[in-house]
Amino acid sequence: MIHEGADTVAAMFLRYIIFANGVTFDALMAPLQTSDVVSVCDGTSKMWKMLLETKEVMPGIKKYCCLLCPDGNRREYRDGRDAVRHFSKDHLGFSFPCEYW
Ligand SMILES: [Zn+2]
Repeated sequence: MIHEGADTVAAMFLRYIIFANGVTFDALMAPLQTSDVVSVCDGTSKMWKMLLETKEVMPGIKKYCCLLCPDGNRREYRDGRDAVRHFSKDHLGFSFPCEYW
């Protein structure tokens, strides 16, 4: 992923922290447990949020950019949960029944 333009930190985080014990959807949705990480990320509480860059496009309106997409061509989402679906489908190859969401 890194050589394709993904954010290096996000890709490393994905590889060594989120999926340290295997690539599973549960791992992606797990709460962050390291208090250090939580404090660095300003209260971010779920693994998948580490893979998004939050941009405030207007006061009160945020967008979430996928850090795993190539730089300059990143998908943007208004709802973080849409981004999770994008990770799962486009980057990680998970598939879910639609009802899941
Ligand atoms: Zn992406």
